[in-house]
Amino acid sequence: MSRVISGIHHITAIASDPRRNLHFYTDVLGLRLVKRTVNFDDPGTYHFYFGNADGSPGSILTFFPWPHATRGTVGNGQVAATTFAVPAESLDYWRSRLDANGAATHDAGTRFGEAVLAFEDPDGMRLELIATPLADPSRAWHGGTVAAEHAICGFHSATLAEEGYEKTARLVADVMGFQQIGTEGNRFRYAAAAGPHAGSIVDILCAPDGQRGRQGAGTVHHIAWRTADDGEQLAWREDLAAAGLNVTPVMDRMYFHSIYFREPGGVLFEIATDPPGFATDETPDHLGERLTLPSWLEPHRARIEFILPPLE
Ligand code: ZN
Repeated sequence: MSRVISGIHHITAIASDPRRNLHFYTDVLGLRLVKRTVNFDDPGTYHFYFGNADGSPGSILTFFPWPHATRGTVGNGQVAATTFAVPAESLDYWRSRLDANGAATHDAGTRFGEAVLAFEDPDGMRLELIATPLADPSRAWHGGTVAAEHAICGFHSATLAEEGYEKTARLVADVMGFQQIGTEGNRFRYAAAAGPHAGSIVDILCAPDGQRGRQGAGTVHHIAWRTADDGEQLAWREDLAAAGLNVTPVMDRMYFHSIYFREPGGVLFEIATDPPGFATDETPDHLGERLTLPSWLEPHRARIEFILPPLE
């Protein structure tokens, strides 16, 4: 099959205070704000996209910051950890940097032979850094606040917490073309057919006695997987529907096109196209500098700007 899911496209999570969220991901983690727009389904809320220089698929973490959101509970049926790749000698640098910024770190040992540093963002979102030879410095944003040799190089992986793992495993392996590449305790590791490379990995963590997650600030809303173009996306849609999943129609998200479905364990999955990317309504040098709106919301710009909380 030449058509492949090549890895994580983006991960979208819920935050509370937009200013605090913006500060943490740009000033502390050193990611680039590549797009500042609104939640198209709730235009009184921001939608921030953080990523590398051009926001390439596999680097993008996005947030809906709802100022009054109550904190959720991380648990089964969710992406329970979002993991970035950093260069192999970088964990000491990051431990100091995160501790100095109040993001209490803890050493999470090794996973499949690679050291893991775990921490939380200001809303309690579970993040990890993995020091790995898979980290590709050309995938980092070098215009940020982090020394170039330590900068985050996009996603390494994501961990899905599940009450049971078989149905989810069958979906990713039999329908989405992932391959199992390892098992460690109750953690089952899969890589996209194009992998393993940073961002191609998903771990299914089988936790039958774990509590179910509850959506709120500090939890992941959905994870999106990469597809090459609109034609392949429609073919994936057919495959997923044939496998009995309820898949949405294609939605125009301006910077990619999306379909959504819930995997059997409850995690909301999306398949998103690589094109067109973020340089469609701003030039590459000026990504994220202004509030961008889709054409259908542009007539309401004044009202939207009035409602959105100030960021400066
Ligand atoms: Zn999405």
